[in-house]
Amino acid sequence: MTTIADRISIAQSQIAQAAQNCSRNSEDVTLLAVSKTKPISAIVEAYQAGQRCFGENYVQEGEEKVLALKDDYCDIEWHFIGPLQSNKSRIIAEHFDWMHTLSREKIAKRLNEQRPTDKAPLQVCIQVNISEESSKSGVIATEVSPLAKVISSLPNLTLRGLMAIPTATSDIALQRQEFAKLQQLFTQLKSQYPDIDTLSMGMSNDLGVAIEHGSTMVRIGTAIFGARDYP
Ligand SMILES: *Cc1c(COP(=O)(O)O)cnc(C)c1O
Repeated sequence: MTTIADRISIAQSQIAQAAQNCSRNSEDVTLLAVSKTKPISAIVEAYQAGQRCFGENYVQEGEEKVLALKDDYCDIEWHFIGPLQSNKSRIIAEHFDWMHTLSREKIAKRLNEQRPTDKAPLQVCIQVNISEESSKSGVIATEVSPLAKVISSLPNLTLRGLMAIPTATSDIALQRQEFAKLQQLFTQLKSQYPDIDTLSMGMSNDLGVAIEHGSTMVRIGTAIFGARDYP
């Protein structure tokens, strides 16, 4: 039976291989271990295997895990990658290091106000709705720059880049098309905000294509922690 440590090491070598295939440095791609629904013991196991960046999707569950681990594992970097309602923004502002799914000005302003002043600014990515289907979250391409402008004016937020959840598909051509579009948006945004450095895209089954298109952070859950019992 493989352990969490084995699976992290497999994911790291997949990242290294994908980076090598497109002549990128594998150190420029961070592995974000998505631990949603998984117990604290699984996070600790991953931590002991050297993993430091963890992604959570649910506000309350995320808060509980951060609080449970903050004393003994204070160098964990917590990333919120789920949908956020504005009335829950305080929890994210107070407990997380990163927020990947920012898509509303109102929430940006609330997070800025609610970020404790003794903490580093909240590191944020704008979520892009790359397929522009109305059922999906994120901003459409033309809304990226206006939202970036708002974020960059807020002292307790630091704009780091873009995040997307592309269409779930096994159609490689469609995958490439969406990742290419995101890469282009990122390049455009970087010309306005040269300090941004994060393109959060790619999951277990599309990591290679994502890295080929400039991903700097891949978010992997199931391939590390196993199947989830609920969503
Ligand atoms: C759950 C989730 C992941 C990880 O998905 P797996 O299929 O388990 O690897 C990545 N990104 C986001 C935004 C998620 O919600």
